[in-house]
Amino acid sequence: MSSIVVVGANWGDEGKGRLVDYLAESASASIRFQGGNNAGHTVVNQHGTFKLHQLPSGIFNPDCLAVLGPGMVISPQALSEELAEVNAAGVTVNLCISDRATLCLPLHAVEDISEEQRLGDFAYGSTRQGIAPAYGDRVMKKGILVGWLKQPEVLRERLQFWLDWKLPQLKGLYPDIKMDQTADQLADWLLTISAPWRDAICDVTQPLNHIQKNGQTLLFEAQLGAGRDVTYGEYPWTTSSHVVSAYAGIGSGLPALSPERVIAVAKAFSSSVGKGTLVTAMEEQDAFREASNEYGAVTGRPRDMGYFDVVATRNGVSLQAATEIALTKLDCLSGLSGLKICVEYQGEHSDNPIWPQTESLQPVYEEMDGWDEDITGCRCFEDLPQAAQQYVIRIENLLGVPVTMVSVGPEREQMIIREFS
Ligand code: GDP
Ligand code: MG
Repeated sequence: MSSIVVVGANWGDEGKGRLVDYLAESASASIRFQGGNNAGHTVVNQHGTFKLHQLPSGIFNPDCLAVLGPGMVISPQALSEELAEVNAAGVTVNLCISDRATLCLPLHAVEDISEEQRLGDFAYGSTRQGIAPAYGDRVMKKGILVGWLKQPEVLRERLQFWLDWKLPQLKGLYPDIKMDQTADQLADWLLTISAPWRDAICDVTQPLNHIQKNGQTLLFEAQLGAGRDVTYGEYPWTTSSHVVSAYAGIGSGLPALSPERVIAVAKAFSSSVGKGTLVTAMEEQDAFREASNEYGAVTGRPRDMGYFDVVATRNGVSLQAATEIALTKLDCLSGLSGLKICVEYQGEHSDNPIWPQTESLQPVYEEMDGWDEDITGCRCFEDLPQAAQQYVIRIENLLGVPVTMVSVGPEREQMIIREFS
């Protein structure tokens, strides 16, 4: 039996989705444990190219249970659309949705957008899907449980209770906001939109316990990366949930989980979308961004591009309690001149900065040999040019954790597995 947790070592978009798709071939459950429709996990396999938002990336294995965990905030409309999209591609999803997850409703998205507009230059750079307001309401004990979709009378009552509290606040803060749906109208809409998947709502702990007892593999998938954790990331430029591996059990319905493997996914360079400090930002970013196709999967926003940051990634590895690293997008470095990695920060508070101290940090670089060869066809580590091998080994030594997987292209098979005896 093994429990494998796939998490981000940096700021998200490291390639977690493609890794989960790869590992799910031998898993019995694929579980998303936090976040919601703000995720964009890209999978490229024989079924096509998908940007998954709420469904876990293991859905392409028909024998794998796809679980939306209690740690998530779930957009019902987006879930219906996503299911329709993958079904149209011939993928049947074996779905289980936690009754303890809470809903991310259209009004949450309206609130998110209104708040970003109100903040102007100080906006968070939100994906505007309503994630922060949905988690905020959950913590304020006003959230709408997914399980109430199966109890229509309770649903109506709780929606009324929520709106009575919510609307006066929103009208006060955003006078131009338009909100005309009553609790009953909202309940009717929810019951209609959830019809295709309502039967999948359950206590997800039960099937997961069963899989655990049978000694089968569970695969847990985080959204974003350590630098965006609401507690340990660069607050307030974080997401609104816990993205660290320690939350995998809590957010999945198995709170006592003690995983055998935690794979921290890191890109072979740095990139980040949304606000926050990228210490290793490149001076000239456009050509590399274009060549590496670094645009946000949800918003299409250009990502900020930088050199590999050992300091941030070491912190990520530590926060994630990573047992190993998967290094993605190594192919994108072919032909990049002036390759280097950041091995240290200089500046005040460089040992434990909290924002805005992070903004004055200066990177110290180590020059690396580059390579020009196209490596997208390499399937074993020794096939890589010497300089590429050295690059991976240097990162591995600096991080102190084995790099067990290296990807050299977005497709499922473009993966190198390193064997350690
Ligand atoms: P996630 O949110 O962590 O799942 O990552 P995203 O899907 O948002 O971003 C990763 C992007 O890199 C996607 O467009 C992937 O298709 C792409 N990708 C992943 N691995 C590789 C790789 O090894 N090489 C290349 N060229 N692209 C990759
Ligand atoms: Mg992404």
